[in-house]
Amino acid sequence: MKRERKLDKMVITSEAQYKEAYKKSVEDPQAFWAGIAENFQWHKKWDRVLSYDWSVPETKWFEGGKLNITENCLDRHLKERGQQTAIIWEPNDPGDDVRKITYAELHEYVCRFANVLKDNGIGKGDRVCIYMPMLIELTVAVLACARVGAIHSVVFAGFSARSLATRINDSQCKMLITADGGFRGTKNIPLKEIADEALDHCPSVENVIIYKNTGQSIEWVSERDHWWHLETRNASPEFTAEVMDAEDPLFILYTSGSTGNPKGMVHSCAGYMVYTTYTFKNVFQYKDGDIYWCTADIGWITGHSYIIYGPLAAGATTLMFEGIPSYPDNGRFWEVCAKHKVTHFYTAPTAIRALEKHPVSLVEKHDLSGLKVLGSVGEPINREAWMWYSKHIGKDKCPVVDTWWQTETGGILISSLAGVTRQKATFATLPMPGIQAILLDNEGKELKSDTAEGTLAIKYPWPSIARTIYGDHDRYKKVYFSAFKDHYFPGDGALKDEEGNYRITGRVDDVVIVSGHNLGTAPIENAINEHEMVVESAVVGYPHPIKGNALYAYVITYSNTEEANQKLEDEIKGLVARTIGAIAKPEEIQFVPGLPKTRSGKIMRRILRKVASGECENLGDTSTLLNPDIVNEIISGKVNTN
Ligand code: ATP
Ligand code: MG
Repeated sequence: MKRERKLDKMVITSEAQYKEAYKKSVEDPQAFWAGIAENFQWHKKWDRVLSYDWSVPETKWFEGGKLNITENCLDRHLKERGQQTAIIWEPNDPGDDVRKITYAELHEYVCRFANVLKDNGIGKGDRVCIYMPMLIELTVAVLACARVGAIHSVVFAGFSARSLATRINDSQCKMLITADGGFRGTKNIPLKEIADEALDHCPSVENVIIYKNTGQSIEWVSERDHWWHLETRNASPEFTAEVMDAEDPLFILYTSGSTGNPKGMVHSCAGYMVYTTYTFKNVFQYKDGDIYWCTADIGWITGHSYIIYGPLAAGATTLMFEGIPSYPDNGRFWEVCAKHKVTHFYTAPTAIRALEKHPVSLVEKHDLSGLKVLGSVGEPINREAWMWYSKHIGKDKCPVVDTWWQTETGGILISSLAGVTRQKATFATLPMPGIQAILLDNEGKELKSDTAEGTLAIKYPWPSIARTIYGDHDRYKKVYFSAFKDHYFPGDGALKDEEGNYRITGRVDDVVIVSGHNLGTAPIENAINEHEMVVESAVVGYPHPIKGNALYAYVITYSNTEEANQKLEDEIKGLVARTIGAIAKPEEIQFVPGLPKTRSGKIMRRILRKVASGECENLGDTSTLLNPDIVNEIISGKVNTN
């Protein structure tokens, strides 16, 4: 049991321990992180824990260290937990067979596929694009890349051919791994067909490996295309992991693109491993025998860090779900929780808000008594969604961890530790050990008072910070290190209460200046969402001849009659005036059937801004939207602002 105890050593189990760990992490960060890194399997220990210069900017952790992350996620567990389930796979269709794979089987599968990669000319440093549905094979492909030292770039399997091609070309991928098709609810997405279309514009791709999933017919390009099952059939189940330098890149992942063009964030091997494992164990307080389910797609950072790497390095049982929350009905999440006796459930506010609209009987008919911890990630969680989640899903007994972080940060930066540190509804609460978060005013001066509201910044490196934007270090510097000297700038605003708890208020560029007052749109949305008839809302600014800018609110309600909406309009304005002030009252309110969202469920505000400003002809790229049709519906119901 030696190794397991090793990992458990890093777990914080009381508030006092948290304080102690935090203090040590600030007073002597290098000793602190060296102590955590000791718990992993290295070929060679590091020479230097940290060196950095954020004027370059450059950050290096565990330099001189040698390792392979897959040995930490797989080989290390074989002796003690080889027969333990590593991944539970729940199919799109609840009638289909569940798959379970043990650590020993996963190890063997990854080794086989690593041999396939090698036989197809993939080695250390090559970029491999993975465009696959949520199947165990997606995890296998990711880990096999890491095992041979190739850099994976996972592209969410809901993206269009154009989005896929842009991402493949940006990082010049040599190989694409995909499937014939993918099931999502009632849909069957023709992945190979989309990939073929993309590859017409991607000369760097030499080979394509296709996993047979749906069995639908596909076009075949001989020489280039290879079946997964034929390639793996005779591959050896052994593969000696490539020994990587601590700072070698592990993967590239594109941000969700809600504010601009997606950025190919580059994460490196050692720091990422150490930080995701540390935060997984501490935030979720996962114990042996627990069943952990994160509903994110592996196409996003949450899936990378908290479905694959963090949980597997910690020796957890992690659940992967192929489908969507509304299929076959809106109780699917709860059905899956009951079916697999899920103990840890981690999802996004957008999903909670969508599900809370439906009768609670859809929740109540499932046995959720196994749940111990609930998590939220992706956007600020409004009070109503928090309360509903805590009451109906957590039965008021499960701690809710609101985890604030980004693709760029690799792991969770601010969150409570489930059941260990205090929670406060709508607050992400305290920074993780090692995270020196501060609030700055508009001039970049630190706000030192006990309670404050400003722009969030981090003043010291943590191990899993992205090292660059692939092929564009200048942009990396400009976006993250130029706003405030020697600070990492995440682009989010926050406020702090007297106990040091942080509440993320939204993106700082979501600020509208109305009659000379800076108004964040997130708190206004929160106020609107408090109304019991409101499902969700989005507030943006548009040019106004007198006020400079005025506020335009898009609101989804439970009612559909014009009469009811008329009444609601006044009530919403009154509610905002009471909660924030008359200045924040929306000038216009449009009731809409839905909001344009990115594939990760975030509202695409740049489109709403354009519509509110009357620039409906020039909306930019809408192909990455989850629901492109909604845009026309919104335009046709637009309130005249000109
Ligand atoms: P892009 O950077 O391309 O615009 P994105 O920021 O949506 O895309 P992600 O890295 O997936 O891409 O999302 C990170 C952002 O999500 C954070 O900067 C923050 O605005 C928001 N966020 C994530 N978790 C939370 C949370 N718990 N509370 C509040 N906001 C959150
Ligand atoms: Mg971002």
